[in-house]
Amino acid sequence: MMQLSRLLGHVWVPVGLCGACLLSYYAGGGVAAAGVPLSIVMLTGWLLWLAPWASARDDTGDEESHASGEPPLLRHAQRDVDDEVSDVPLSVLGTAYRRRELEAIEQVVDAILDKCITLIRARLTGHTIAILFPTADGGYRIRRYASASDHINEDAVIYPGVGVIGSFLKDGLKQLKLEDIVTDSMTLYYYRKDAGIRSLMASPIVVGGVERGTIIVDSTEKKHFTDEDHAFLSTMAEVCGQAVYYAYLYNEHKLDHTRLMAMSSTEKYFFQNHDIDAVFDRMAEIIPFAFPCARMTISLKDPEANVAHIKRAWGTDAGAFADMEFALDGKTLAGILYAKNLCFYRNFSTDRYEIRYHEKEPRTRGLGSFLAFPIGVEECKGLILLESQGKDAFGHSSRDLLSRLVTSAGVAIEKIQILKQTESMATHDGLTGLYNHRQFQLLLKEAITRSIRYKDPLALVICDIDYFKRVNDTYGHRFGDSVLVEIAGRLGKSIREGIDVAARYGGEEFALILEKTDADRALETTERIRQGLERATFQTPHGKEITISMSFGIAVYGKHARTQESLIQRADKALYAAKTNGRNRSELYLSGDTELHVPRVSGGTTAAAPRRKGTARS
Ligand code: GH3
Ligand code: MG
Ligand code: MG
Repeated sequence: MMQLSRLLGHVWVPVGLCGACLLSYYAGGGVAAAGVPLSIVMLTGWLLWLAPWASARDDTGDEESHASGEPPLLRHAQRDVDDEVSDVPLSVLGTAYRRRELEAIEQVVDAILDKCITLIRARLTGHTIAILFPTADGGYRIRRYASASDHINEDAVIYPGVGVIGSFLKDGLKQLKLEDIVTDSMTLYYYRKDAGIRSLMASPIVVGGVERGTIIVDSTEKKHFTDEDHAFLSTMAEVCGQAVYYAYLYNEHKLDHTRLMAMSSTEKYFFQNHDIDAVFDRMAEIIPFAFPCARMTISLKDPEANVAHIKRAWGTDAGAFADMEFALDGKTLAGILYAKNLCFYRNFSTDRYEIRYHEKEPRTRGLGSFLAFPIGVEECKGLILLESQGKDAFGHSSRDLLSRLVTSAGVAIEKIQILKQTESMATHDGLTGLYNHRQFQLLLKEAITRSIRYKDPLALVICDIDYFKRVNDTYGHRFGDSVLVEIAGRLGKSIREGIDVAARYGGEEFALILEKTDADRALETTERIRQGLERATFQTPHGKEITISMSFGIAVYGKHARTQESLIQRADKALYAAKTNGRNRSELYLSGDTELHVPRVSGGTTAAAPRRKGTARS
């Protein structure tokens, strides 16, 4: 910011000096001859004034720039841009910032106009010098003036066709020179009382071929102004127009520049972050105040199902939309937008309420238009929906800025999702989604450490599907896979979330780590799971319903084993006992247990002798 204001200072130096040179040229009479040399002296002075600034900046350059052979000023510029990008607050994206900047530029414009009036006064003697700018309704109002009169009507609006000046404004602004005005000065409209004005000249302020205002100079004397005076006024009008135009232009560039800088720092934040929630938080922080809207909702698709969830909601009835799950069946606005995967904006229908996400959402009235952006590079993974009260509320610049923001956020979210997927592949089983064997070993180690530290019991369960080979052989491997997925899901849901662990131990074997669980509680748990599974039916590809059973072996850390290895071994042994004792049962490890044992039995079969492997029960 500081660099920009410094630059603004440098921009005004040549403008001011040009004005001064002009002043010296038009100072008229005897000094006119001195105008050209004076201009050169002033220009040289300006360059000399710039020189120490440039060398002072050079002094701050580091050794590296000299060593790399890069021009020092280039490095300074790069560093300044870096500083600015990291300095710019997010508030520059908001409308309040824009409003403040627009107010500030009007003050700069007033100062330019005052300087122009000062220059004109130095060359021309007049009663009033006034600069008029257009009003929204096609008239002209005094913006700045200097006058010998106390009766200037600052509120007067001069309309084309009305009064002395108005009659000349009919076909646009023109050069005007009146030498013998006979009417009361009130007909000029910018006086409240007759000021006895007899001469008047005006020159349009034209920039880029467009008339943007007019400068009027009047006098109480007849034929007061010469052609040379008029030529001077015309040049001053041109200088004034250029200066004002460039001030506005500069301000617009500055606003764009700061917005882009804020966007850059936001993008940097997105890409440095490895957390989707942080990306959503930043979007929810920026969007509602950078794009005035009545409601903002951000949703994300569930990769596993044809549904999405609202992750952030802001504005009207936001509470009812927060965390909402909705179907992507194409019947709602969001459903259509997800399917289209396009930036979309239009007005809402006035005849009926258009369902945004879900039939049960609050039917907020009075929302006129929306702007929606898909999140995601190739497919729509999420959606930002902005709704506004006004119709056609989202213009070009909103769409451009939001597009950039959402594109960056989308790329960042995809990157985070891929990273998470890679991490998950390293720790989870691809088929069932449970922890894999390697992760199971790590988690068991951690659980044992906690069990020792807090002196809590820890149970390990190893379980195995009964006669699973036959299931595969009879109904196919693919069906076998679907059974594994279903059973894994049941196991995962049967344990305490965030406390216990379910893992795929290998093949059709699974392991459960049950923390703070003694032998009895573990047995209760496995029996609950076993009985639940016993009652479940599985639909084969041939349309047949079959049942499947599992056997469970349990060992408790501290009670049955003192190392991780022996704990696993003993749970495995208990499983072996469950198998040999008839399957579809749970067995606790018993010390000294080796081969067959009928210790504490829980199960659906009573046979003590090992059963011959048979077909899956159907
Ligand atoms: P038991 O009751 O003694 O455990 O009998 P079983 O048939 O289940 O035991 P066995 O060890 O003979 O067979 C295990 C079968 O599990 C062999 C293999 O085809 C199947 N299996 C292992 N991993 C997978 C898998 O990822 N998908 C499918 N469909 N089958 C698998
Ligand atoms: Mg088996
Ligand atoms: Mg097995």
